Parts: sequence; C-alpha cells; structure tokens
Amino acid sequence: MSGAGPRDEQRYAGLVAALRSTVSSGATLDLDWRRQRLGALRRLLTDHETPLTEAVSRDVGKPAAEVRLTELSLVVREIDDLLANLERWTAPRRVRLPAVYLPGRAEVQLRPKGVVLVISTWNYPVLLLLAPLAGALAAGDTVVAKPSELTPTVSGLLADLLPRYLGADTVGVVTGGVPETTELLRCRFDHVFFTGSGPVGRVVMRAAAEHLTPVTLELGGKSPAFVDGTVDAAVAARRVVWAKFTNAGQSCIAPDYLLVTREAREEVLAALGAAITEFFGADPRRSPDLGRVVNADHHRRLVDLLSSSGGRVVVGGGHEEDERYLAPTVVVDPDVDSPLMTEEIFGPVLPVLTVADAAQAVAFVAGRDQPLALYVFTEDDATRAAFERGTSSGALGHGVALMQISVPGLPFGGVGASGMGRYHGRDSVEELSHHRSVVSKPLRPDTLALVYPPFPAWKRAAGMRLLAPLRRPLARAWTRGRR
Ligand code: NAD
Repeated sequence: MSGAGPRDEQRYAGLVAALRSTVSSGATLDLDWRRQRLGALRRLLTDHETPLTEAVSRDVGKPAAEVRLTELSLVVREIDDLLANLERWTAPRRVRLPAVYLPGRAEVQLRPKGVVLVISTWNYPVLLLLAPLAGALAAGDTVVAKPSELTPTVSGLLADLLPRYLGADTVGVVTGGVPETTELLRCRFDHVFFTGSGPVGRVVMRAAAEHLTPVTLELGGKSPAFVDGTVDAAVAARRVVWAKFTNAGQSCIAPDYLLVTREAREEVLAALGAAITEFFGADPRRSPDLGRVVNADHHRRLVDLLSSSGGRVVVGGGHEEDERYLAPTVVVDPDVDSPLMTEEIFGPVLPVLTVADAAQAVAFVAGRDQPLALYVFTEDDATRAAFERGTSSGALGHGVALMQISVPGLPFGGVGASGMGRYHGRDSVEELSHHRSVVSKPLRPDTLALVYPPFPAWKRAAGMRLLAPLRRPLARAWTRGRR
C-alpha cells in the first residue's frame, strides 16, 4: 500500500479492523499461533538473507557484513529468545492474597493488546521494524508495519514478504512517508511503537492521545562518552571509534560526543586517530568496511554541522557528496552552543570536549537532556559511582559502548527526551501486553459480609482491625517490608 489520498483513511481503517478481528477471535491467545508466526518470521530472514542484506546496503550504504551482524543476526537472536521463553514469559503470575481476602486467589494475566502500529526509521531498517514486530507476535498482537520512506528497497521487499510469510490476517505493511503516516495515525490502534526522532515522537504521541492509545517511543539524542587518564587509552579509543563509526555514525546509541579529562586529552586524541587508521586504513574512502551517509540531505547537514562547529578538525574532515562519503572525523573544542553540540549528530563526526575532571563531566551530562546511552571509560570506582548517581540515561556502559543492545535480558529504551517504554525479549512481551489483574473468590463462605452495610458498632470495630495499616506506626511498615 502506498500514497495517501481521501480514500486511504478508509483503507487503513479496514486494514486495522481486519487485523483486530484476528485478535478478538481469540486465535492469538494460543501460544502455537504465536510460535508459528515467530517461526515464519525467522524463515523469512533466513530464506531472504541475501536480498535483505543487499537491499539494506543499497538503501543505507552499509557494508554487507555489518547488515548481517547488526541487523539480521540480532532479529534472529531476538526471535529465538522469544521462542525459547514464550511459555514462561506469558504465564499468569500468581499474587499472594492478604489473609483477610482468603479464601481466594489473584494473578496477573498477560493479554494481547490488539493491533500494534510499528513505525520505524531507516538506519537499521530491518532490525527496527522486525524486532518490535517479533515482540508483538509473541504477545499475541497483530501489526501494521510502517517502514521508513528513506529505505524504499527494504520497505518494498518487506511489504511483499511479511504478509506472505505471516499472513494478511497477522500483519499489514503501509509504505510511504509523512502523508501516509499522518493518515494512518488517525486510526485507532491498541499500541503505537515508534522509533525515530524526538520531534516526530511528539507528533505520534499527540495523535495517539486522541484515542488514548499507549505509546512506546524509541527516540535518540546526544549520547555522551567520557574518558579519563586511568584507562588504557588505546583500548578505550578503539571501543569509542568502533561504536561511533559503525553504520557511519548513524546509530541511535552511538557516542555522540566525547568528554575527555585534560590530563588524558593528548593521549586519547592520538589513540582515536590510530584506531581510525587501524579500522579503515590511511584512506577510509577506499575501505569496504566504512558505511556511507544515507542521502545527500543528511550529507549536507553533516558538512554544515562540521563547518559551523568552531572547533579544530584533528582527524578526517574529507567529504564527497556524490558518494555520500564523509571521513571518520574528530573535532576538538567545538563551541558548546554550536549546532554540532546542540543537535544530534547522527553521522561520522566525533566532537571532543575537554573537562577538568569527572565532576565537571557529570555536571555537563546532567545539565542536558537525559540521553539514550552514556559511556564511561575509567578504572576509578569513585568516578563510575559519580556517573551512576549523578546522571540518568536509557543505558549506561562502563568500559564499552553499543553492546547493551545485544545482551539478552537487558531492556532497551530511553528516558525523558530519549523516549519512554522499553523492549527486547521479556520486556517486549510485557510492553506489548495488557496486564490484566484477575481475582477470584468462592461465593461460600461469604467472608466479605464484614464490609457490607449497615455498620453497627461491632462491624466498625472489626473494620478498624481490617484497616490496621491506617493505624500502624511507620516503623512497623518498615519492618514488614524487610521481612
Ligand atoms: P523520523 O522521526 O524523521 O522518522 C521516523 C518515522 O516517522 C519514519 O517512518 C517517517 O516516515 C515517520 N515520520 C516522519 N515525519 C513524520 C510526521 N510528521 N508524522 C508522522 N510520521 C512521520 O526519524 P529519522 O530521521 O528517520 O531517524 C533518526 C532518528 O531516529 C534519530 O533521532 C535517531 O536517534 C532515532 N533512532 C532511535 C532509535 C532507538 O531505538 N531509540 C533507533 C534508531 C534511530
């Protein structure tokens, strides 16, 4: 489906209604329904590994090895994790009833929410569409998938393959850009899962509010990294360079800028240059392992960020618009008010700011929007603790960057300006399910008689005992909590 016109709203509404009827039929409560879909999604990836890899390389300019490593493999691992744990993660969770409510039982049941709209972006076009989709299937939801218009080859391929493998009763794909998404967002969904920029996240949340639809917002922002003089500068630099220049810096959790202490600065700068040469050679333009900037608009935006930064380019700086090539670039001492330091860079440019010490770095990070990720390279426990206590971020990496996205069991998501909600593995199932509280109590004996009116004196006295927490001193509540 593509193109938004007057009749699209109806068309989209029809699609959502059909997908909702799959859920309301009760079919998706069956774990075998979910297993079958997850297996089909896995087959889609393995059957079409090469065309998908080529499509991403073509649309995003990413090396094929990177596509396999950072997209296809991660989705397959996510599916395997969901399949292996599906029964356990979706099982009703018993809750102990307080003695006064006995006999009876209470539990939390995870129920499918219904139809989930997954809106995705271009930088990891397979991963960021299919990982949320897998979570939704595991939760028993059906999905409308809206890939990015900036990756037309991938979007076209997935629009063809997804309904073929999963069935049109399970997933619908809507391709297109702003007009189509705007129209789509007029429909009532049961959850909207959005990956993209903060400004569009606000548009999505406003539209969802019209229907009181819950949202997950996986946004971006400026993720800082910090390096001090206690670490092996060569290793820290290699890890920063790898995380920054994978996918040509177009990763939401790439380090956006680097804060380095004065005493470590020269050694770290030299190590950054050495790591870039080690990974991409003396002429990175010839390296088959360096990705390209997604399109000419983004290329121009990045070149403008570089030229207006007020900083000094110490590594790289070369660019070629026709090839969408921008060398892995390090800029020192940019103006903190320049766009390079106020906007998300999302490209292969690493600004380096000098700080007096860790305390100044913590204050710098804490004084700005809460980032999606924060990376701290220090051997000093007190410095690690200062970052843990003094800052907030979606994820925190000590001595490593990017890795958090691929650790099964770790939730992925932002906080504040970097987003809301979380997913991957069990967190996807929980995020995309309704948590229904279910209590049951036999009708006999009728132990609730105490709370029925009228309330003679004996009932009021007994009621007071039931309401004991109201009269209990705080100290007792503390000890109860610790038992
Ligand atoms: P974007 O917000 O421009 O686009 C994302 C999606 O929203 C696309 O599908 C697009 O078609 C749609 N869209 C764009 N404008 C819209 C509008 N006005 N109304 C409705 N829909 C609209 O984001 P982008 O530039 O494609 O992606 C880059 C951003 O995404 C960066 O900020 C990056 O950090 C972030 N990101 C976050 C994650 C994460 O997991 N947290 C992952 C990748 C990228």
